[in-house]
Amino acid sequence: MYNAVICRYHEIATKGNNRHMFENQLIENLRYLLRGIPDLRISKVRGRIWIERRDREFFSSEELTGIDRYLNYAFGIESFSPVIMGPANMEFIRATVASKAREIFARRFARQERVSFAVRARRSDKKFPLRSKEIEIDIAEVIDREFNQNEGLYVDLNHPDITVFCEVRDEFAFVYFERQKGPGGLPVGSNPPVLALLSGGIDSPVACSMLLKRGCRVHFVTFHSSPYTPPETCSKVKRIADVLNRHQHPGKLFLCNLVEIQKAIRDNCNPRLRTVLYRRMMFRIAEKLMSLCGARALVTGESVGQVASQTITNLGTIDEAISTLVLRPLIGMDKNETINIARNIGTFDLSSEQVPDSCTVFAPDQPATAVALDKAQREEQRLGDFWAVLDEIIKNCEIYTGEE
Ligand code: ATP
Ligand code: MG
Repeated sequence: MYNAVICRYHEIATKGNNRHMFENQLIENLRYLLRGIPDLRISKVRGRIWIERRDREFFSSEELTGIDRYLNYAFGIESFSPVIMGPANMEFIRATVASKAREIFARRFARQERVSFAVRARRSDKKFPLRSKEIEIDIAEVIDREFNQNEGLYVDLNHPDITVFCEVRDEFAFVYFERQKGPGGLPVGSNPPVLALLSGGIDSPVACSMLLKRGCRVHFVTFHSSPYTPPETCSKVKRIADVLNRHQHPGKLFLCNLVEIQKAIRDNCNPRLRTVLYRRMMFRIAEKLMSLCGARALVTGESVGQVASQTITNLGTIDEAISTLVLRPLIGMDKNETINIARNIGTFDLSSEQVPDSCTVFAPDQPATAVALDKAQREEQRLGDFWAVLDEIIKNCEIYTGEE
């Protein structure tokens, strides 16, 4: 019974010259996300984005369910509403309210004896014969007539069970009954791309989703230690990347086998420093991969004090391995806060599958919690030309481009 979906976005994000870029990016993303629903028209009309069928017919319920689902992946959308759109006259508005309200109010009356409602009308066409207040009264009378037998129906402007919205514009009018919350944020692609260090854990997928939400396309790099880690280590990360890629044109996932440099570290360096040294090597490889995907920063799921490698001292020593901007969106978060987000974005169950991680290969029992930079550098000198090993790892990395 709906023939359009109207999408709203934050006005604040779209001030000044950014506005066109922001809107066009959002439309491009919607075209991509909704590509499975054929023959849609997605257009911009005065600060809103409209989704309709090309033939302007009503959506089927499958189409509406699909649109609903994919809009929840489209960062940049603040809220959206399925609407019934038609000519800008009171006959259309009254008829639409009468037929649709019957169904919506009846559904509510099935659950409760008394149902309150409010009408909210707006007109941007000042030549329209009725003012907003008059439209509201007119619609309320229609509802009253439709339900005149029902004494349980009453008006409550502050906390209505049901709100009937009506907007009249120059060329058309539309009626709707709900405002669904979108994912918010900025459209992916409205900020430069980043490369995220994605493990199979809980934290790094959450860090990725936070950058996606701020409009960065996210590419991924994961490190495994085959044959010391099983194939499941990689397949798990691929599935996590698939979930994150629901929000975007799939980012690339680089899968790098870290084992050769890990062996060199095991054979030459102080065992207590292994984790920090692994990390410095991961950062070096990731920095080199940035040019292969146009990334302008790295992203990790680190948070202060979570494990030995994430003390302030160790974070600093790891950071010094490279000269690139490293974003750590979870730096001040508690694990429980992160877990809540992981549940919301649909990665928690995948992350909870117990699969060995590359970091645990040859891991020491008692990792050092405060490795000064010069100490790490001295240990690395024992490795000789480790860049030859890293270049070989980069050369051999597998690139996964998504489930399609
Ligand atoms: P996560 O839950 O994301 O694994 P964590 O709490 O287990 O994080 P660590 O294992 O210390 O913490 O890792 C810190 C960060 O380092 C991760 O969030 C991720 O960005 C990066 N990282 C760790 N292991 C890997 C890996 N095998 N491949 C890619 N990145 C990794
Ligand atoms: Mg981890």
